[in-house]
Amino acid sequence: MSQRKFDFYIVPTPIGNIQDITLRAIETLKEVDFIACEDTRVTQKLLNHYDIRTKCVSYHKYNERERVDFFLRELRAGKRIALVSDAGTPMICDPGAVIVEELIKEGFSITALPGACAVTTFLSQVPRNNEEFVFIGFIPRSEKQIIETVQTYAGINTVFYESPERILKTLEVIKSVRANAKIALARELSKLFEEVICDDISSVIEHFQDGIKGEIVCMIYADEKPENADLEYKIKTLKSKGFKDKEVAVILSALFGLNKNEIYKKSLDM
Ligand code: SAM
Repeated sequence: MSQRKFDFYIVPTPIGNIQDITLRAIETLKEVDFIACEDTRVTQKLLNHYDIRTKCVSYHKYNERERVDFFLRELRAGKRIALVSDAGTPMICDPGAVIVEELIKEGFSITALPGACAVTTFLSQVPRNNEEFVFIGFIPRSEKQIIETVQTYAGINTVFYESPERILKTLEVIKSVRANAKIALARELSKLFEEVICDDISSVIEHFQDGIKGEIVCMIYADEKPENADLEYKIKTLKSKGFKDKEVAVILSALFGLNKNEIYKKSLDM
């Protein structure tokens, strides 16, 4: 199949299992003039495995800005470049954004290839009762910021990356403000010791009480709304429109098959 040509390719690489790379990614890495790598030594192992002989040029979050001028010169000279990070999808908690922003300003054509990413690999195997989630990248380190974050996002499934050294402490902090939180935690996705656990926060902490190794993605499930929240909202709405407690009870029991006396009592209490 003939492929459309771009100036700049963002190419995902495996997050653990070396076979998790697409045919198109391999072909692209072979065809570009050079590969911009976060760490050339890490990427070289992948290139050797797939017999990719393309030259590597390093960039990382500390020299990204200086590297932009070099990439711009090369692109203006008609060269084509692929960007990879050490693992997974560039720009998902990895550098690359500074370069891409500059290339967009300069009008170069850019494309991203679909591929391995820890957060999507995780979400595609963890049960959720709705599609909503927020991905916050690495969770903040300080206790205060962790608390602020989990309180802010209490109503939505919150996905984050965390290091194995900090995760148990982080879970304890989360538990201090959301004691009944449900957690999904995966470690070492696509690797030999892959493990995914979904349970209440105390059980997850207990499961890993002797320590936890490997790379981690975690999700705090959205807090479930109390069962009566919706009913209370309906009662309040009807009362705000001037309906009396008895009328509220008749209307809601007729519409939703609920117990009239219970609604009446609830309405009186509100
Ligand atoms: N760009 C990568 C991606 O697409 O997922 C993420 C890079 S970020 C610097 C590295 C973090 O991603 C790790 O600390 C861990 O939280 C998560 N991660 C990467 N590989 C993983 C894996 N195989 N299993 C679980 N988490 C992983």
